Amino acid sequence: MPPNSTDESNGNLKVTQTTEYSREYSKQDAEPVNYTKKWNEFKYFISQLKWFNIILLTTLHLAFVWAVIAFPWLQRGRLILWHAFFFHLTAFGVGAGAHRLWCHRTYKAKFPLRVLLMLCYTTAGHNPLFYWVRDHRVHHKFTDTDADPHNSTRGFFFSHIGWLFMKKHPDVLRKGKEIDMSDLWEDPVIRFHQKYFIPLTLTLGFIIPAIVPPLVWGQDWFWSIISSAVGRYVFVLNFTWMVNSAAHMWGTKPFDNSISPTENRLVSMFCFGEGWHNYHHTFPWDYKAAELKYAGYNGSSFFIELFGKLGWAYDLKSASPELVKKVVLKAGDGSHLVWGKEVPESEEDKIPKATKQ
Ligand SMILES: [Zn+2]
Ligand SMILES: [Zn+2]
Repeated sequence: MPPNSTDESNGNLKVTQTTEYSREYSKQDAEPVNYTKKWNEFKYFISQLKWFNIILLTTLHLAFVWAVIAFPWLQRGRLILWHAFFFHLTAFGVGAGAHRLWCHRTYKAKFPLRVLLMLCYTTAGHNPLFYWVRDHRVHHKFTDTDADPHNSTRGFFFSHIGWLFMKKHPDVLRKGKEIDMSDLWEDPVIRFHQKYFIPLTLTLGFIIPAIVPPLVWGQDWFWSIISSAVGRYVFVLNFTWMVNSAAHMWGTKPFDNSISPTENRLVSMFCFGEGWHNYHHTFPWDYKAAELKYAGYNGSSFFIELFGKLGWAYDLKSASPELVKKVVLKAGDGSHLVWGKEVPESEEDKIPKATKQ
């Protein structure tokens, strides 16, 4: 019988006894609140915050909400198209450049393509390429541990934006030093980007997207600047962060059920194919970052192949269907569209014998 319930024979007496016992028990065993400890924890938490980032990003997001409401959507068709075009350049630079080329080396690129990718990446207004790649390599090597910069076990808010509000966990700094980044410094394109990061980012990330519409077709300056510096920038930031947050929480795991990354169609559609994250963490060396070439608007795969035809991209690495099937059957969660219905051997062991036919 559960505590504080009654029965017909001695209900009230039983209730009283159980309640008294609970009170005695809690009095004896409850630990006194250690206010000094709590205060020290609070002080430590405050000391870890990066106030500049908090104020800047919060202000930008509040401005973004206002801009979305106030923007004259129906009268600014050409401006929307301009930003959509620019968004594709950005997504190509981040996905095919920073992520698939420099971070994972899923293919090789000739000098002109590397320059193009670097310029496209710069339009995002993200951190210097070197730091972006280092953080992402640490993320893959130590996924969902304290050494993961945006450890998703700390919740959606932390993995999405909260990690930028705080100083890095000591393990991130410690393990980050162990990551081999020598290949990045060997690339003159990366060195050039690092050296001229601020003027490049200001010009390509903010000035050009804002001044082209007024100068080329007479767009009003006000909405051109707001939609570039606030609208496009915050939109790009959030969909990049979605790969770290949503694509580590919501979706299926057809390739490896033991890891947190998931297959997330929505993230993939807005991130040029970067949302097939369960596949990507299972086969990080695959240039498609997805099992299927173009599923979920995988524009980065399309352009890598296009530049492959020009000879600017080469040595494209990809997992064979046989290997993918083997991995799906061994470690997947059973949601794979083709091989998902076959029960993996490891899962078969978990099925209670009584239910086996
Ligand atoms: Zn990830
Ligand atoms: Zn990756």
